[in-house]
Amino acid sequence: MIFTMASSLLSDNVQVLKASVSKTAYQGVAIAVASIIVATFMVSVYLVGEVSFAGIMQAQKTNLALWILNCVPFVFAFWGQYSSSIIAYEAGAMIYDQTQELRSKAEDMAKQASYATTHDSLTDLPNRALFYDRVSQAINSANNQSKQLSILLIEIENFKEVYDTLGRNSSDLILKQIATRLQGVVLDQESVARIDGNVFAILLADIDDLTEAEHLARAIQRAMEQAYVVERLQFVVHSNVGIVHFPEHGEDVDSLVQRAGVALYKARSSNNGYSVYEPSFDKHSPRRLTLMSELRNAIDRDELELYYQPKVDIQAGKLYGAEALVRWNHPKHGFISPEEFIPMAERTRTIKPLSLWVLKRAFQHCAAWHKQGVEMKISVNLSAKDLLDPGLPDTIAGVTASTSVKPEWIIFEITESAIMTDPEGALITVDRLSNMGFELAVDDFGTGYSSLAYLKKMPLTELKIDKSFVEDIQSSENDAVIVKATINLAHNLGLQVTAEGVENEEVLNMLKGYGCDIVQGYHLAKPLSVADFNNWLKSSKWQPIPSNSIQEKG
Ligand code: C2E
Ligand code: CA
Ligand code: CA
Repeated sequence: MIFTMASSLLSDNVQVLKASVSKTAYQGVAIAVASIIVATFMVSVYLVGEVSFAGIMQAQKTNLALWILNCVPFVFAFWGQYSSSIIAYEAGAMIYDQTQELRSKAEDMAKQASYATTHDSLTDLPNRALFYDRVSQAINSANNQSKQLSILLIEIENFKEVYDTLGRNSSDLILKQIATRLQGVVLDQESVARIDGNVFAILLADIDDLTEAEHLARAIQRAMEQAYVVERLQFVVHSNVGIVHFPEHGEDVDSLVQRAGVALYKARSSNNGYSVYEPSFDKHSPRRLTLMSELRNAIDRDELELYYQPKVDIQAGKLYGAEALVRWNHPKHGFISPEEFIPMAERTRTIKPLSLWVLKRAFQHCAAWHKQGVEMKISVNLSAKDLLDPGLPDTIAGVTASTSVKPEWIIFEITESAIMTDPEGALITVDRLSNMGFELAVDDFGTGYSSLAYLKKMPLTELKIDKSFVEDIQSSENDAVIVKATINLAHNLGLQVTAEGVENEEVLNMLKGYGCDIVQGYHLAKPLSVADFNNWLKSSKWQPIPSNSIQEKG
């Protein structure tokens, strides 16, 4: 087909060129004939004195030069035909070659353009469009052959931090390394795709056993665990894997990928970093998705409020301070627990504005109480993400200056698990805050496998025993022993101890007997709005100055 097209193109070109070269040859023949006539006439005049038939005949018979001249039109005609054919063929072939070259260039460009629309330019992996296409095809063939398939979504959880620390070029290098490692763990390299900035996807097609996907998820975690080295710095990447199976979890690409995303969300809070989709995961996810986008506006629209829960010094019998606890009063859903929206804010970029809002409000309230003579310390919770923000101490310095709060009025609470997420990074922030004059408490102690070696290095002033241990000291000998031992340990480290979750008088008395310094819990008061806190304070037996000094005064 191509050959016939090419040869017909060639013969067309040859005809066109031949026609134009032949025209020149015909002109040559015409000039030659005209020259013969003129020459014959001139020889006739020379021989007989005039141009006559007899003179022309004699000239043609006797003159050698005319004979030679007579041959010229035939030579011209032959040469014209011959060379026109050669030139035409050469030119035709040249045009044909150039056309072929142009055609193959156009084909290359079309191939490149189609590669660019189906592949990620950074990693060379298939992109979202191609991945979806392949999953669709795999679903069709799985349907025909009664086979199964799985999709794994892999998210680099801390990619934003890596990007912020390393900048674009180096974090691109990490993404390339991630792509290569992922290709290393699968059998079919083409099955790995990059479908979003920090999200990769793998298609496991034609499988008989769905546990293969979980094996692969574990292999991925192991492959990602090794530190990445860029610019002689080592980086650890945290990845999560969400898994869905076909046909169990969905019948088309869109619902499968969407559900793999839901599983991925669940994987973030799992111990092993991966999760297989379950329909029950969907229950809260639509609400969660809308809440995530609403949280940012909630901060601006003042839908958040800070509540305060009193902390009482049981040995001195006085109000010691209060812990600021954020509340979200959603216009549609009512009060939403911080345990639901803080982890959500930590995963998006909302934790920064949220923490800034809490800091400003808590410092303003603290300054106002001190102005009114209520001398208590305000405890403010910092999230793990806050601790990794190198700008946090400067932000706090700014808020301190603008609210005229004295640093010694504030205690920052950091959970044990936040410290252990990045002990070195946490130490830098904690050191800076301590040097600025703030106090620091380790929160939820006993739940986060912290290393005493790290805690000893930190300039901490307080240890808060998690309520899960305190709640049961009446019924559980074990918990009572743990609480007692923790109080002793903290005192030996020079820290004061707060017990959280004190819900009745007996627990309070037991803790007092163990030498615990401060208690906090529903027995004293639930977290209260500022107005309710002020009312509570008016009628409470726990005042900011020791109760015995009130009696002395009274
Ligand atoms: P947390 O820091 O351990 O706060 C203590 C939690 O225990 C509070 O829950 C409080 O209401 C609850 N609680 C207090 N006394 C008792 C009691 O006697 N019994 C029981 N069962 N619970 C008691 P809340 O306010 O729901 O806060 C939950 C968590 O949310 C906090 O745990 C803290 O980790 C986080 N959080 C709250 N506010 C903030 C904030 O402003 N910033 C950050 N980063 N995290 C916050
Ligand atoms: Ca706390
Ligand atoms: Ca706590």
